[in-house]
Order: sequence, then structure tokens, then C-alpha cells
Amino acid sequence: MCIFCKIIAGEIPSTKVYEDETVFAFRDINPQAPTHILVIPKSHIASVAELTAENSAVVAHIFEVIAKIAEEEGLAGGYRVVSNCGPDARQSVQHLHFHILGGKEMTEQMA
Ligand code: AMP
Ligand code: ZN
Repeated sequence: MCIFCKIIAGEIPSTKVYEDETVFAFRDINPQAPTHILVIPKSHIASVAELTAENSAVVAHIFEVIAKIAEEEGLAGGYRVVSNCGPDARQSVQHLHFHILGGKEMTEQMA
């Protein structure tokens, strides 16, 4: 099982922010912004590159969850949603995840 599958299963502790049948969200252990939350599908999908017509519906649901979390976290000023895919993007956990980064004003620099 990958580390995020273990977090979903409760085998590795996490600070849960949201959970439903298909999605889990928790605080990043190494926050890079005042609010830094990871939103992941419960099904193991390795990355954005592994999305297909068969498994992509969960991504639409993840974005609905992101909007809800952002509101609950008080990110009225805005936030950034990031998904690193592959080695050039420095993806370090091979389970699809979307970073919600907020609580500060970002720079124009994105990469
Ligand atoms: P990425 O580099 O895009 O693959 O993002 C992986 C993220 O997972 C990093 O921001 C890590 O800080 C975070 N992370 C790794 N292990 C844990 C953990 N056990 N609990 C919470 N976040 C984690
Ligand atoms: Zn996994």
C-alpha cells in the first residue's frame, strides 16, 4: 500500500479535514503556506497522467470538495490548487493529490 492509501486506511495518522465515500483530505505534514491541505481520491490513482474516462469523475468531485474546504478554511482572499505530476514536477508521493495552498498572498512566479 502507498503512504496515502495507508493514511486513508488509518494506518498512518493524519490531521483529517474532510472525508466522504470517495475523497479524503488532510493537512500537509510540511506546510508551505499558512493553509496547506491535500485532497486525494480514496481509489489509488498514481497521478494526473493516469486519469482516464473510466476514473476521472472523482476529479470533478475533488474540485467540489476543494471549494467547500476553501470556504470552511476562510480562504476568501483566494488560494492555489496544485497537482505535481512526474519527476520534473517533483511529485514525491505516487498517489494523485491536489494541494490547496492559501492564507497568504502568492507571488506571480508559478514554476
Ligand atoms: P508532492 O511533492 O506534490 O508529491 O506532494 C506530496 C506532499 O505530501 C508533500 O507536500 C509532503 O509534505 C506531503 N506528505 C508526505 N507525507 C505526509 C504525511 N504522512 N502526512 C501529511 N502529508 C504528507
Ligand atoms: Zn495509494
